[in-house]
Amino acid sequence: MRKNVDSLVVGAGFSGIYQLYKLRELGLSVKLVEAAPEVGGTCGWNRYPGATSDTHSKVYRYSWDKEDLRNTAYLKHVVRRHNLVKDIELNTRMESAQYMEGGWEIRLSTGESFRSRYLVTALGALSKAYFPRIPGLDSLAGETYHTTAWPAKHDFFNKHVGVIGNGSTSHVIPNSDDKVTEENRKRINDNYGQIWHNLRTNLSGHAIIESSIPTMSITAEERERVFEQVQQSGNGITFLFSTFGDIAINEEANSEASYFIRRKIAQIVKDPVQARKLTPPGGFNRRPVTANGYYETFNWDNVDVVDVLDTPMEITPTGIKLSDGTKYDLDAIIFATTLKPLTAYAGFPNMFLINEPQGPLTNVPALIETQVEFVAGLIATEEAEKKKRLVIQEAEDAWLEQTNAIGESTVFAKGGSRLTGDNAEGKKHNFLYYIGGVVNYNKAVQTEIVGGHPSFKPFF
Ligand SMILES: Cc1cc2nc3c(=O)[nH]c(=O)nc-3n(C[C@H](O)[C@H](O)[C@H](O)COP(=O)(O)OP(=O)(O)OC[C@H]3O[C@@H](n4cnc5c(N)ncnc54)[C@H](O)[C@@H]3O)c2cc1C
Repeated sequence: MRKNVDSLVVGAGFSGIYQLYKLRELGLSVKLVEAAPEVGGTCGWNRYPGATSDTHSKVYRYSWDKEDLRNTAYLKHVVRRHNLVKDIELNTRMESAQYMEGGWEIRLSTGESFRSRYLVTALGALSKAYFPRIPGLDSLAGETYHTTAWPAKHDFFNKHVGVIGNGSTSHVIPNSDDKVTEENRKRINDNYGQIWHNLRTNLSGHAIIESSIPTMSITAEERERVFEQVQQSGNGITFLFSTFGDIAINEEANSEASYFIRRKIAQIVKDPVQARKLTPPGGFNRRPVTANGYYETFNWDNVDVVDVLDTPMEITPTGIKLSDGTKYDLDAIIFATTLKPLTAYAGFPNMFLINEPQGPLTNVPALIETQVEFVAGLIATEEAEKKKRLVIQEAEDAWLEQTNAIGESTVFAKGGSRLTGDNAEGKKHNFLYYIGGVVNYNKAVQTEIVGGHPSFKPFF
């Protein structure tokens, strides 16, 4: 039997949970469906050992709920405390949605179907596992894992394990955790207002001190000291924004940063052949792995690294075979091959996408708040005016053009990473993130609101 709701939200990560909260505030009936067995989104799926966020936990959360500083448990706490559970259906996938006669007809994996006036997809920009096309991919007799769909239980004791990938998610190889001291926590709790104001008005959208100093404006010794200090205490985001102000836009500055990273790897990894294999080619246009014990792991006797660009691999029933004939017998293979970038789509009335392509590269929960509140505001206007609205194609094209123009002027244009969709075969080269700074993105959103949503037209 078909049921009716005012709005259906898909996905119970940061985006979907807050959208449910905001739509309920408008007095609408809301249903949220989530494919996973629990709420949390990315944080629930990516629970591989060593999984961390670059964003400090103090702001990897909603600004309107300051009760605790945790991640996965944090979202569970939010849905309980705000009594959202009753509107959430877990283990339920949206199979299809079709716009018919003024509403959305939605089919779910449970066999249920819903008719809803509004549809909000909060599917996550990074939730689809990417498996590169490797010969023999399905032939391994042993276990296969992907970092983005990590099982609740695993046991690698005494097993031979292969990890495919050497980017951020390959941290599945052990690294270390930092602890938050009581004193630190109190300082954070006492200063939330300022912390959130700063991150909404800076470039990165993170709770960090950004530098505007040009890389080459100081001596080589001072530069080394700055890089070293941030490398030891920070992460990839702080390395990019807190060291110097021009690493992303100035080739010479970028070369200096790359040179530091290469030397760092060479210092830590004792075997020079292994160090060379671990060293990223070209400039610094991806998030670097900083001081967390990752590179030290390659000094262990039981860890080896292979460059599959030099010696391409195939997967066999017993493990991995390289083109030079070397064979690795493996009990399990872990794909740390990141996530498939999504593609935006247009032309759907009363359908809204949260945290989707061409948003800023930033602290995502803060971005989600901006977008969810924008969508809730637009829906409130539609409810008041009793009119549906549709995005104007020219407005969408103009934003894509602006996003690409800014992106192409940065060093990320050559990165071959998920920023441009170049990490996955068959994806068109487009900047999937707006790199103009979160402060400018927020200004653009405000202009749209103050101007009465000029990028939307009424739809009957
Ligand atoms: C390893 C890793 C590290 C990250 N680190 C950071 C960081 O440091 N800082 C930062 O800001 N961001 C980080 N992110 C990005 C992260 O995705 C966002 O911070 C945030 O969690 C996105 O929330 P979301 O609700 O938009 O999407 P998600 O958390 O991905 O939630 C989407 C949900 O939709 C569900 N879903 C999808 N399709 C369907 C369907 N058809 N039917 C029903 N349910 C469906 C999925 O199961 C999922 O639970 C990281 C991501 C990863 C993978």
